Amino acid sequence: MSGVVDHLAELTGFRDRDVMDVTLVTALRDLLDEPAAVAIYRCVGEPGQQRWLTRARLNAGDAVATADSLWVDPETLPALDAHPRRLECLTQRSVLQQREGAGWMTMFPLATEREVVGVLELHTVRRLKADARRMVSSVLRIYHNFQGLLDYSERDTLTGLLNRKTFDESFLKAVSELPMRVPGESAEAARERRHVAVHPRYWIGVIDIDHFKSINDRFGHLIGDEVLLLLSRLMRNSFRFNDLLYRFGGEEFVVLMRCEDEADAAHAFERFRVNTAQYAFPQVGRITVSIGFTQIRGDDSPAAAFERADKAVYHAKGAGRNQVQSHAALIAQGRMAESSHLSDIELF
Ligand code: GH3
Ligand code: MG
Ligand code: MG
Repeated sequence: MSGVVDHLAELTGFRDRDVMDVTLVTALRDLLDEPAAVAIYRCVGEPGQQRWLTRARLNAGDAVATADSLWVDPETLPALDAHPRRLECLTQRSVLQQREGAGWMTMFPLATEREVVGVLELHTVRRLKADARRMVSSVLRIYHNFQGLLDYSERDTLTGLLNRKTFDESFLKAVSELPMRVPGESAEAARERRHVAVHPRYWIGVIDIDHFKSINDRFGHLIGDEVLLLLSRLMRNSFRFNDLLYRFGGEEFVVLMRCEDEADAAHAFERFRVNTAQYAFPQVGRITVSIGFTQIRGDDSPAAAFERADKAVYHAKGAGRNQVQSHAALIAQGRMAESSHLSDIELF
């Protein structure tokens, strides 16, 4: 009993979802009486093209769990129908158990308040008994409830996008390229590991609705709020599942993404701009957005990177709205001056 309580205390001691999933598979493997392999798979991607992302997997003899990189190219992941039984567990929302080779496989659906988001898969030598299945289900309920609390504190209530409060933390985490802290690793060793790793490129984009005040004035705040909600859905459909999407307040949104070069980033923002301009908003009709983006630098603070992207938005507004502007391109073309004072101040 105290083993269960210890594991639950550990599970709910983290606010980081990556660490939580690893803790969950470790806890379940330890709590089961016999050697077991435990894995969490999440369903990701756009409707119709969804795939399985491995959030954490621990085989019977493994010391540490493995996971797909959060920034994996979705096209390299297995399609949903590549694992038909897993898909069945997801769609039926029920526990499935079946023989697998010499052993057994048991699958539990992972759900949030609104939808089923993944599957927990257990591989055991013997069939999982009813009391063990109940124990797993109970641990999963606590895990769900805790994830619900995290959502409540990290997400904007109107749109469900991440809120501004969580931006700094995920910014620094993405930039440091340390998706998981290695247990027992010193700060120095972590820095060294970061140093030798090939640095990926991250981009931040600021999106601001054009003439939103006039939408409120003409149609009222309630319709204005509906526009914000619909725009957040367009964002979810336009950007990739692993891009981080924020509502920064009012009618201002932020995207944190990882991609190879400036052309790819520009392409992603341009696709969203076009999707917005083409969407018929109920009652309101057409709206447009102005977008500014910038590459995140190794010594950036969240505020400094945001300020560069926001300046590019300001430029887009002045140049006629409904357009995407790159901060670096504006500097290169001599249409904007580089300012360094903010990043200097922010560093100390
Ligand atoms: P611009 O093209 O220059 O961005 O013009 P704008 O009217 O969009 O810009 P401005 O920043 O002047 O106005 C933003 C407006 O957004 C002001 C406020 O009435 C409205 N707003 C801010 N937060 C909310 C909200 O949560 N709901 C609604 N409905 N309106 C909001
Ligand atoms: Mg604004
Ligand atoms: Mg605006």
